[in-house]
Amino acid sequence: MAPGRNPLFELELEQELQEDEMRQRRTKDDVGDRDVDTAMNEPTAELGDAHGPLLQGLWESVRAGQQKIVLSPYLAASCAFLTHLAFCAPFLVLDALGSVCQRVRSWRIAAGSGPPPSLRRWFECFCRILFKYTTAVLPAAAILQLLRSPNLPALAPSCWQLFVEVVACFLLFDTLFFIWHYSMHRVPWLYRTIHQMHHQHHVPFALAAQDASSAELLSLLLLALSSAWVLGCHPLSETLFHFLNSWLAVEDHCGYNLPWALHKLLPYMGGAPYHQTHHKKQSTNFAPYFTHWDYLFGTYCKSALHFHSE
Ligand SMILES: [Zn+2]
Ligand SMILES: [Zn+2]
Repeated sequence: MAPGRNPLFELELEQELQEDEMRQRRTKDDVGDRDVDTAMNEPTAELGDAHGPLLQGLWESVRAGQQKIVLSPYLAASCAFLTHLAFCAPFLVLDALGSVCQRVRSWRIAAGSGPPPSLRRWFECFCRILFKYTTAVLPAAAILQLLRSPNLPALAPSCWQLFVEVVACFLLFDTLFFIWHYSMHRVPWLYRTIHQMHHQHHVPFALAAQDASSAELLSLLLLALSSAWVLGCHPLSETLFHFLNSWLAVEDHCGYNLPWALHKLLPYMGGAPYHQTHHKKQSTNFAPYFTHWDYLFGTYCKSALHFHSE
């Protein structure tokens, strides 16, 4: 035995060390549990990053600074009107360039589409749309927004969720539009009172996408909104859907078969030649964007392909 060492004292010391070690282990476990609890109760940062690191920052800045604007009852209709004008602007430029540039003229859909619409026709169409938005679409959209009283979720969608929701919205909207459009052509009263005004344009141009009766504009707004509601889309997905919907409607009516148009990349989309055929032959091509419903119901008109100007 080493001098000065008490076995009883060493035993007590060893017991104390073991208790210390157990206390430290318990403390570590507690901290670990608390970390898990914190992560579950405060998901915004960590889970937000895992959910959609690309979109979370954008979404948080919208929620933090623009909530009043985003929830305004007048936002939807104002945005729809302004984005429609913005998307039409390049086609106004193309129409102007068409008189001096052969290349631009070659993009116009052939088969007697004639010269581009005059500036006067653009202006008259603009005045009609402005009147219908201020008297019907803006008040109706404001009432719908107030009834709906949406709230903004803390988390942004992931890019994949955004993509799936937007595609699903388009497929549902395309189906609802096909049924409604087909009905308006099959029921004479619906055609006369709601849809005939849109068909005043035998050769449509970009701005004419929204040149329809107030009842038709309201019905299309309802179809677009209900597509997103039925699918329970995230507000960011719904906003993107409305923007793209506005662009595709303009592209459908633009009168140009552009080399970079979406229907040239995606074969199941009809694009401007497909919808221009509907304005000429009204018993065909009822769906707005995709061609599958017209194929299935035998209303697809192949002559749309012959309208390509090349
Ligand atoms: Zn049309
Ligand atoms: Zn029609």
